[in-house]
Amino acid sequence: DHFPGDESGDKKPRQTPGVLYSKAIPTPVAQPTLIAWSDELAQELGIEKPTEQQEVDILGGNRIADTMYPYAACYAGHQFGNWAGQLGDGRAITLGEMEAPDGKTWELQLKGGGPTPYSRRADGRAVLRSSVREYLMSEAMHYLGVPTTRALSLVETEEPVLRDMFYNGNAKYEPGAIVMRVAPSFLRFGNFEILAARKELDNLRNLTNWTIDRYYPHIKGEDKVLTWFKEVMERTASMVVEWMRVGFVHGVMNTDNMSILGLTIDYGPYSFLDDYDPNFTPNTTDLPGRRYAFGRQPSVAHWNLGCLASAIAPLLPDTKELIALLESYQAVVSEKYYTMMGNKLGFDEIKEADLAFITQFEEMLGELQPDMTIFYQLLINLPLSVDNEIEVANHFKESFYKELTNKESTLLFELMQQYATRIQQNSISREASQQMMQAANPRFILRNYLLHQAIEELEKGENTLFLKLQEAMKKPYETVHKEFFARRPDWASQKAGCSMLSCSS
Ligand code: AMP
Ligand code: MG
Ligand code: MG
Repeated sequence: DHFPGDESGDKKPRQTPGVLYSKAIPTPVAQPTLIAWSDELAQELGIEKPTEQQEVDILGGNRIADTMYPYAACYAGHQFGNWAGQLGDGRAITLGEMEAPDGKTWELQLKGGGPTPYSRRADGRAVLRSSVREYLMSEAMHYLGVPTTRALSLVETEEPVLRDMFYNGNAKYEPGAIVMRVAPSFLRFGNFEILAARKELDNLRNLTNWTIDRYYPHIKGEDKVLTWFKEVMERTASMVVEWMRVGFVHGVMNTDNMSILGLTIDYGPYSFLDDYDPNFTPNTTDLPGRRYAFGRQPSVAHWNLGCLASAIAPLLPDTKELIALLESYQAVVSEKYYTMMGNKLGFDEIKEADLAFITQFEEMLGELQPDMTIFYQLLINLPLSVDNEIEVANHFKESFYKELTNKESTLLFELMQQYATRIQQNSISREASQQMMQAANPRFILRNYLLHQAIEELEKGENTLFLKLQEAMKKPYETVHKEFFARRPDWASQKAGCSMLSCSS
């Protein structure tokens, strides 16, 4: 082992033309203390839980093993639709890559490990608040079955970090923390965009070929770049459809936050929907335009894929087929989307008439704005003898944040009548249909207000709620803790200004 110190790479913020990454040694912290550890992931990786401070020191960036070659990746991106130029890992440092006992390889990265050449004017650090959010949510998404990067450990640094809390000018010190996050690769669309923007065609070709050989090894032959783009597109569409299934809003779908493997990456101001509102965005920076609102995610993914297509276009003799692929996105995502909705609703298959029903159903949800998670749970057990409006309204009562007007209650009743008729046309049994629904509709989601409460507790040195959430999120399709099967409290509503409580930084 050696200790980080003077031999570290130059951390001066700068442009780095000609390279794909820069050496970046983590900056040691006062006192790394392990506060969370993902046992199951560790087992998969073949890593034992640290028992000695020396091992925790690695997770806190205070020690580098001999076999590690820490670096920060150089990438660019389109942020909120605008070209942002070079960004890069400003506070993430890859320690290296390891092979797990099952032969899979994993990139290990510290988030919050100190400045790199890409930190620009920021400090390279992360606060406990944002680290807890990344740690818990990336693991929660994994257990929900959504493609995602993972988190192995959460370390408090005992080193305060200065943050402007809610962008209101009141800077204050917050506890610092570091997450070790893990993925087959953290490559983003932006890693390709930077090379295209700089016209570094050899680097672009090398990175593309390397990415295909390493992460898409089944793709071979002359059309390999096109085939690869098609697969990136399909994976991205699948990922976004999964977000829509569980009610996840990413919040910062910039192209530098789009994984080339179709993984959910960069957990910042994300949120689950409580009340169903397609216009909901959890990101304060996104408020005027709501570019990254829940309902826009499939189309934003398309826009982002367009940026990737532009970046790799110089590798192709002509762009006709690439453009055709890009134009096929709508069909690809729709097919995945309706299949997913069919599963949520318990349909044996998607028939022509189901498409119109799903649209109406979603419009109804948008109007009544029930709690998305609770509504779908109640739908599983809807008695199919739907003939009484009051009974139907009562059946879903637990999911509503408001009293239904007569008009709303009639709308619900009519939709549920149609729904019951459709379910009776299934070629599968009611039980089989209900099982489909149970597998597609989570009972437990990591609601923003729960995270907020867990973080407040942790900041006071109390981890009861944190541990409970960590247990509950491992079985999201069951009821582990009954208390969590409930609407968010009123104080945590967006209108009360609270669902944006815990953003990035
Ligand atoms: P994000 O909006 O989280 O995707 O971050 C956009 C860019 O800002 C990325 O290049 C990050 O590495 C960088 N960044 C965010 N927070 C920090 C920080 N505290 N220190 C240095 N760089 C940061
Ligand atoms: Mg990012
Ligand atoms: Mg971020």
